[in-house]
Amino acid sequence: MSDESPLIRSLRAAVAAAPEDVPLRLHFTELLLAEGRHNEAVAQAAVALQHAPGDEAVRDLMVRAMQLPTVGTPPPAPTATPPEAAAPSPATDGTQPPAFDWAAAEQEVAGVVGPRFAADPTDAGDATEAPLTADGSGDPADASAWDIDAPGDVRLADVGGMQQVKDRLDAAFLAPMRNPELRKLYGKSLRGGLLLYGPPGCGKTFIARAVAGELGAGFMSVSLSDILDMYVGTSEKNVHDIFEAARRQAPCVVFLDELDALGAKRSRTQHGGLRNVVNQLLTELDGINAAQNEGVFVLAATNVPWDVDLALRRPGRLDRTLLVLPPDAPAREAILRYHLRERPIESVDLGKIVKVTEDFSGADLAHVCESAAEYALLDSARSGTVRMIGTKDLLNAAKQIKPSSESWFASARNVAMFANDGGVYDDLVAYLKKKRKL
Ligand code: ATP
Repeated sequence: MSDESPLIRSLRAAVAAAPEDVPLRLHFTELLLAEGRHNEAVAQAAVALQHAPGDEAVRDLMVRAMQLPTVGTPPPAPTATPPEAAAPSPATDGTQPPAFDWAAAEQEVAGVVGPRFAADPTDAGDATEAPLTADGSGDPADASAWDIDAPGDVRLADVGGMQQVKDRLDAAFLAPMRNPELRKLYGKSLRGGLLLYGPPGCGKTFIARAVAGELGAGFMSVSLSDILDMYVGTSEKNVHDIFEAARRQAPCVVFLDELDALGAKRSRTQHGGLRNVVNQLLTELDGINAAQNEGVFVLAATNVPWDVDLALRRPGRLDRTLLVLPPDAPAREAILRYHLRERPIESVDLGKIVKVTEDFSGADLAHVCESAAEYALLDSARSGTVRMIGTKDLLNAAKQIKPSSESWFASARNVAMFANDGGVYDDLVAYLKKKRKL
């Protein structure tokens, strides 16, 4: 965004400071349009529509931003359309809808479908921003092969539900960071590690990013494929380099995804090379106790904690294991609100959507919002009249999606029944009992 004019920059700041000022946002949107920045203009018009859904000027601006034919313009000349492709939008006045050129419409909306109405929160760590360094200078001299995202704008308040996890993160990381005097008094270090586990798509990565956002810390996401290398010794070096990069750029949240693959039970790890990687990881995690690791926060995640090496969970390593569950009703409402926040919605009855999305993961809910926006967008492109996303779009989208956590709970059930040694999975057992799955 460094190439934008000072005027755009000032207006962007003004709009951020007064998000409900519709005339100001319209002015900003006009300016973006004049500069040919249509995608951004669509996003801004979408927010304006949320605050003033019935405002003709806002709707008109949205039409222009989307580069649609203005309302009342005759539909495009009929072309041959496969019958199944013409199905999605029934005519409401009983007449046959005009034949529609889907290929042309797709081309027309292609530029809009990407960022559509809202930027993906997971992309918040803008690659063009300078990475945070220990001294806050953003000096790129420390740049390494391992990407560290600058702190994004996702905050814990953006993460729906997970109160227990948030409380734990607050006690372990956030409160000590915010209260240096108390930290000194109680001798609390600014480092630590937690293991998050649970079904896929329930926000483990998302909350780790939010922690980085809260701490104003860099964020480094590492998965198995980033680490393993076919050459002897290279994988261990990769592990070491990752932690070194994090130490240099502290404060930094290191997110270790698929920990089960990194730290698979050593007894079951026949591949000698992989065992060395596990040992290297243990060494680096032990380093978390050393003063040099001040400001390095490790959040690890797995869907299969029962496959994680127990040594990784010793105190000073990843000494807390937290269950991240599918959101309950209030959390589902919060997640839906979050994913609809910058989309043009009208009279959406969230209660109805919450009711039909029991057991949906956060990712499933994000997908529901994305699909509903797609329906409304294609409908708008088809009719040439911009319409809001409504309850029906969301209900239809929810109907198409099956909760993705079902298979995870099927296997977790066996562990809860037969392998809950020492009560490690008591939270899971309690949840399964509550849901009558045990
Ligand atoms: P996996 O185990 O497959 O890696 P995960 O638990 O890490 O999954 P995320 O990648 O964090 O899940 O979630 C996917 C997306 O779902 C997020 O980017 C976010 O858009 C949405 N999401 C999930 N949980 C929440 C939540 N609690 N609040 C808001 N959005 C959420």
